[in-house]
Amino acid sequence: MLSLKQISKYYSSGGAKTYVLNRVDLDVDQGEFVSIMGPSGSGKSTLLNIIGMLDQPSEGYQYFLNEPVHQLKDKQRSALYKQNIGFVFQAYHLIDELTVYENIETPLLYQDVKSAERKALVADILDRFNIVGKKDLFPEQLSGGQQQLVGIARALISKPKLILADEPTGNLNSKQGEEIMELFKKLNKEDGVTVIQVTHSEKNAQYGSRIINLLDGKIDSSIIL
Ligand code: ADP
Ligand code: ADP
Repeated sequence: MLSLKQISKYYSSGGAKTYVLNRVDLDVDQGEFVSIMGPSGSGKSTLLNIIGMLDQPSEGYQYFLNEPVHQLKDKQRSALYKQNIGFVFQAYHLIDELTVYENIETPLLYQDVKSAERKALVADILDRFNIVGKKDLFPEQLSGGQQQLVGIARALISKPKLILADEPTGNLNSKQGEEIMELFKKLNKEDGVTVIQVTHSEKNAQYGSRIINLLDGKIDSSIIL
């Protein structure tokens, strides 16, 4: 599904380069569930953002669904992202002024999806996530766990092949966190969605099929579960 070859990311200040990622090689197959772990500052979020084409590497080659990402223009990268990737954030990133329904519908407004189909898709996912009764509420009226469910529903609404999640349970209590991890596991196993998550939690990492440990911007170890 995706391949990173000798990917580096550095920031320059006063002529010196500080490497956040240093010659990372990584291949992920369709259907995998990968957990990225490592100390704070080891480059986890940067790696996830590069995989999701939200950030660009300084050096290296990157392929996603056989497209050479390093050669694409901004517009092409953005189209590839919108068609194939759902991003889930630790802090949910919902739009406060929009209801649950409207938040979930948002990605479809940027695609060519007709109104009747949008309604059907949102209704279906509200039902699947058991949040039909919350559809007219605003994010601040929900618990953290419910907000993250909405964040995941929004990420899934355009039926992405790949879900990227950066500390998706970081703001949740352990019961809510478990529910979110079970949901990812189900999406992966039953719907074949590829999942890559960043997590600090060894327990959450165990939900995946592979754990990648980052240390100082390099892959320190890779463990198949
Ligand atoms: P992690 O997710 O593992 O905590 P990050 O990928 O967020 O690590 O960040 C890795 C390192 O990159 C951190 O030391 C951070 O300070 C640095 N970094 C991130 N963005 C920038 C930036 N725009 N300019 C300089 N350094 C940055
Ligand atoms: P958490 O994010 O761990 O759920 P919260 O403090 O956000 O913790 O919420 C605790 C409980 O309070 C939740 O069960 C939620 O349903 C309820 N709650 C949170 N915010 C609101 C709100 N604005 N209106 C009504 N109930 C709320």
